[in-house]
Order: sequence, then structure tokens, then C-alpha cells
Amino acid sequence: MTANVLFAGRADSWPVYGPLLKAECARLGVKADLRNEFAPEEVDYIVYAPSGPIRDFTPFTRLKAVLSMWAGVEKIVPNAPPSVPLARMVDSGLEQGMTEWVAGHTLRYHLGMDAHIHGQNGRWDPRTPPLAKNRSVTVLGLGALGTASAKALAALGFQVSGWSRSQKEVEGITCHAGPEGLKDALAKAEILILLLPDTAATENTLNADTLGWLPKGAKIINPGRGPLIDDDALLGALDRGQVGHATLDVFRVEPLPPEHPYWAHPNVTVTPHIASETRESTAAEVIAENIRRGEAGEPLLHLVDRSLGY
Ligand code: NAP
Repeated sequence: MTANVLFAGRADSWPVYGPLLKAECARLGVKADLRNEFAPEEVDYIVYAPSGPIRDFTPFTRLKAVLSMWAGVEKIVPNAPPSVPLARMVDSGLEQGMTEWVAGHTLRYHLGMDAHIHGQNGRWDPRTPPLAKNRSVTVLGLGALGTASAKALAALGFQVSGWSRSQKEVEGITCHAGPEGLKDALAKAEILILLLPDTAATENTLNADTLGWLPKGAKIINPGRGPLIDDDALLGALDRGQVGHATLDVFRVEPLPPEHPYWAHPNVTVTPHIASETRESTAAEVIAENIRRGEAGEPLLHLVDRSLGY
């Protein structure tokens, strides 16, 4: 049997993904008809991005799986039929990009680069930055992206702690878990990185109470999702100096509205949701492998737990 695979990502990415997906399916010996248009009732698999054309899944009556092109699935979970498996994107290219972005922004804070980039007004102040082994960094979220970032920071020499829902053991990382573990994870975070998914349980993980658990002057880097942070609480903590600076890549409303106080705040860096993205060639391998598994009756990789929302 040939599987009918509908590519429902952004229209302009089909010319890149089409040949890559066809080549990967051929390499894996998967019989698949890959197109960017199909009658809905003929579709077996949807390769899906929320930025693509599909909003309503109900006409897809014989669907075997939804294969997300995005790692974050908060916009897909409420839409995709609960009876159909939903796989999210775990892509080595996405991981590498996130690791580089996180390492770069962590090093900016650690080395105090801004002091020199923004000018020293003729003042010669030869203070050498500390070593990473004397800096504590915490990563909230020890999934695909959080673990890759935490390991890279540990490899640079930082003292790295992590926090997740279930207890983890990661070499070189001090792991905390669950609501009871958050206080210890935050207490050490001179630099805090958020790589949690956007779910009901993670909303406002950083709020007026938990921001107070950070060391005074802590730096925050959020490439996770906007709703992880209570924005008013963060602005208050920045104004009081409880938080020294924040680099925010994701927001409750994107693009971030021009009137939002983050834009003008002297201690906030806004980046426009560019921390990382799915990379076509490695993502095509993951998608094709899941189509192979689906056709072989094997469990799909990277399934979303619909009750947890990630
Ligand atoms: P993932 O593999 O699903 O990992 C999620 C991690 O968060 C897991 O360690 C999980 O714990 C933890 N977690 C979930 N709910 C929690 C809770 N209530 N309390 C404590 N920990 C909790 O996700 P990922 O692939 O690493 O991606 C993380 C997020 O990055 C995505 O959801 C997306 O929002 C964001 N992202 C952003 C960009 C960007 O460009 N800015 C790009 C890609 C992705 P367990 O390990 O115990 O399950």
C-alpha cells in the first residue's frame, strides 16, 4: 500500500521539503505519495505546521497520524483529533541551533560583554570576567532542547542545574524535579534559561513569588514560550533590580506589539522568536522515519501526551 502524505506546512517551504521528504522516504523504502494538495478523505499522514493552511482536521477521515514540524505543540494539541497520534518535532538541527543561541546569550551575561559593547566612556577598567566554573546556570525544562543546552553549558564549565516534571539523571547536571524542586533550582540561578513547553501547568512558572526565589540580579533568558512568565511580575522584578536583565525571544502576543514595555525597557533584550527553528534536511529524516514506523505498525517517535499537552 502507498501512504498518502499531505504536506501542510508553509506554502513557500514545500519546494524545499518536497524533494527532501521524497528522497528520505525512498531511502527508507517507504511507499509514499507526498503532495501539498490532496482530497482530505484520502490523506493518511499530515506533515503539519500551525503556519500552514489547515485549521480544521474534521474532513481528514482516514488520518493515521499528524506529524508536527514544530517542537512546541500548544497550538496543535487543541485542534488535532485526539484519536489520532500526534508526533512533535525533535530535530538535531533545531537542537544545535538552540544550543548555540542559549550558549551565546549565556556567555554575553557571564562575560559582561555589554559593558564593552555599549562603550566605556574612555574609562580603562581592566576587570577580567570570572570563570564559568564559578557561575551557576539553571535550565528549566530538561527535554530535547533543555538537555542539549544544559550539556553544552556544562561542557563550557558552568555549574549547571536543571528542572523537569519527572526526575532526570543527566551526567554533569544537578537535576531537580516537580513543584517541590523549583525553589532549589531557582535559588542557584545566576543565569536562568527557560525551555519549558507552554501548557496549563507551566503558565506563569516565573511569577511574583518565584522571581523572588532567584539570587538578586539574576539574568533570565527565555527561548521557551511567552506564557511561562508573568510579564507584569517580571517588569516589577526588573525595576526593583531583583532581576538584572532579561533576554526574551518569545511572547504571549507575537509579533510583540510596538507599545509593549519590553521594547523600551533598558534591561530587556527582545529577539523576534529566532532562537532556533526546524532545519529541513534533518527534520525530513525524522518525518520520513515516522511515516515508515506508521506503515510498519511500529510506535511513532516523539509522541505528544495529549493529557499533559507536550
Ligand atoms: P520537550 O522535549 O517536550 O521537553 C520539555 C521539558 O519540560 C521536559 O523536561 C519536561 O519534563 C519539562 N516540563 C514540562 N512540563 C513541566 C512542568 N509542569 N514542570 C516542570 N517541568 C516540566 O520539549 P523541547 O523539545 O525541549 O522544547 C521545549 C520548548 O522549546 C518547546 O515546547 C517550545 O515551546 C520551545 N521552542 C522554542 C523555539 C524558539 O525558537 N524560541 C524553538 C523550538 C522550541 P519531563 O522531562 O519530566 O517530561
